[in-house]
Amino acid sequence: MAKPDFSIVEEKQDVVLQKRNGLTAKQKAEILSANPVCPLCKLEIGSVKEAQFDHVIPIALGGDAKPSNMVAMHRNCHRIKTDDDVKRIAKVKRIRKKASGETKPKRKIRSRGFRKKEK
Ligand SMILES: [Zn+2]
Repeated sequence: MAKPDFSIVEEKQDVVLQKRNGLTAKQKAEILSANPVCPLCKLEIGSVKEAQFDHVIPIALGGDAKPSNMVAMHRNCHRIKTDDDVKRIAKVKRIRKKASGETKPKRKIRSRGFRKKEK
């Protein structure tokens, strides 16, 4: 019998316990120094104070709340990107809803069609 994999459970609890953008000052400095250019406007971000820390892959789309999934960007740029994420998340939710069969088919099947020739 296979042993249960507790490492996955622990990792999930980690994500739940971690606040959104709950980064330490050290983590923020590390993220900024690793990638000092804003991904949206391509300009350098001068300091941690100017930056907002954003998830590369939004949490709602399955991203991690970890520094490896974080990027620094300007506060104003972050606002623009967040709006865009909201739209993308809404789209994904629509697609998932459709895939789960919650929406009705667009047209009814009116007849069974012609019967095949019988021999
Ligand atoms: Zn920017």
